[in-house]
Amino acid sequence: MRAISAAVLILLTAAAAHAQQNGLFPVMPSPGSEYDKPYTGTLIEIRVGVDLMGRLCPKFHGYPVTFGCSHQSIVDDQCLIVIVEDKILNAAGWTYELIRQHEISHCNGWPADHPDARMMAPPLRPAIGCIAGIGCPR
Ligand SMILES: [Zn+2]
Repeated sequence: MRAISAAVLILLTAAAAHAQQNGLFPVMPSPGSEYDKPYTGTLIEIRVGVDLMGRLCPKFHGYPVTFGCSHQSIVDDQCLIVIVEDKILNAAGWTYELIRQHEISHCNGWPADHPDARMMAPPLRPAIGCIAGIGCPR
């Protein structure tokens, strides 16, 4: 995990992109090739638990846990991605690599409404009882 300073956060836009899934809708939009590439600016990445995720990323109605979000700097070529810890992702059937790919695509300009997305299913088997956000590890 990399620490970020308050100054960095202030430079970031408030508009956050997101990746989320709760088992009720077990798919995630995956970017097209235009945005699915390495980020060429300064990428700052942090991993957080559910509580800090709730403060750093938007909460979406109907989704018990946000898996990740990105914040693009408005003054220079920096992007912050926030991804929830593996035990949450894996319990819901997702992997860190897929959520990271999704968020980096937002850093590359993929709009938050996910135009031209391919919907993908989780590659892992979701944990029983975590499907509706109940019984998910914290
Ligand atoms: Zn997204």
